[in-house]
Amino acid sequence: MPTIWQAWAPAKCRLLAWLFVQNRVLTADRLLARRWPNSYFCPLCMRNLETAEHLLVECPWSTALWFRVADKFGAASLRPDTWNLPLASLPSWLASLSALVGDPAKTAKSLALLVIWTIWRERNARIFRGSHRSPDVAAREVFDEAAAWALAGCRHIRCRE
Ligand SMILES: [Zn+2]
Repeated sequence: MPTIWQAWAPAKCRLLAWLFVQNRVLTADRLLARRWPNSYFCPLCMRNLETAEHLLVECPWSTALWFRVADKFGAASLRPDTWNLPLASLPSWLASLSALVGDPAKTAKSLALLVIWTIWRERNARIFRGSHRSPDVAAREVFDEAAAWALAGCRHIRCRE
């Protein structure tokens, strides 16, 4: 999965994205299949069964975050209205986020891993700590984190002001 391993992002973000595309993250649908305790609903919207695809691609909370990040950085491939739904597969979706070449592709790759990481952190914060952030608040955290990545060497990340 070159999209993941070639992207500039901390190892923890690359590992999480890799687990997602391998369908190895323990979302509610997988817990259900094993008859393990689970909360069934996506904790971000409380409307759908939590699956990897729902959480990353379909959930209204997540799509709101994708739009904000895409617009801030001018990364059109991250806009949910450019995605072909229903997805063929999560790996092909992730690859499509950086189908461009050059710096825009590198930016999109890094940002995609950061957004996936942020969605999963928000999901866990709701389940385990009962805290809630809006997509706006989460987007500001993504912008701050992206600025930190840029300082740390991810030079292709540039905000569109
Ligand atoms: Zn949801």
